[in-house]
Amino acid sequence: MEDKQVMIRVQNLKKSFGQVEVLKDVTLEVAKGEVVVLIGASGSGKSTLIRCINFLEIKNGGDILIEGKSIDPKKDDLTKVRQKVGMVFQHFNLFPHKTVLENVMEAPLIAKKADKEQTKQEALQLLQKVGLSEKADVYPSSLSGGQKQRVAIARSLAMKPEIMLFDEPTSALDPELVGEVLETMKQLAQDGMTMIIVTHEMGFAKEVADWVAFMNQGKIVEMARPEEIFNNPKEERTREFLNRVL
Ligand code: ADP
Ligand code: MG
Repeated sequence: MEDKQVMIRVQNLKKSFGQVEVLKDVTLEVAKGEVVVLIGASGSGKSTLIRCINFLEIKNGGDILIEGKSIDPKKDDLTKVRQKVGMVFQHFNLFPHKTVLENVMEAPLIAKKADKEQTKQEALQLLQKVGLSEKADVYPSSLSGGQKQRVAIARSLAMKPEIMLFDEPTSALDPELVGEVLETMKQLAQDGMTMIIVTHEMGFAKEVADWVAFMNQGKIVEMARPEEIFNNPKEERTREFLNRVL
């Protein structure tokens, strides 16, 4: 049997904001090429968890290992870590005064000082991948929300991350635009990208997740295969949550 390569290991992670303990001893492992969908009620700590994995929040305890290496935010170069761990947010924050192509080229040009022509070719390929080749030269304001989010995904991929984190990437979209973004993420999953996705799209979770993790009050209550979580949850709290949202 082939050993799986662990890409992310979160070990006994703790995070507080002031007196409030938001993450209580979270442990999670994601293997290379796996998709973990994180579900749970608003306020349960999902965003904080993935922000900690991208070091946008700094943990108060425990450990975060990326490809086997424990990251110390005080010593390690977080810009380098974030090149490995891409993140897509609910709000896409594209640069309004740059074209779609320039948006996708920006990070590699600035952060990696990459070659301009090669960066352009790669950006065009990424736009093709997210189905937006014909939009390369337009400005974000002329795009739909779904198209903007697909540009944001391409922009994140331009840094050639090994891991992608998504925090409710479709929550701000009109319902008819959700599908195209989910389809783009599904494609990424099929290409073998390692991903943690926070979403309320349970159909997507069923179809695309290798594992579904249910968070409640700062803890991962249960993590299992999607069919287990949705058909036969072990924990009462998981069942209650699913009864409310399904
Ligand atoms: P979720 O993404 O599951 O909705 P969050 O991780 O955003 O949950 O939030 C978990 C808890 O942490 C909430 O009670 C929220 O109010 C609190 N929280 C999140 N970010 C901050 C912050 N920067 N300062 C203070 N409290 C925060
Ligand atoms: Mg959140």
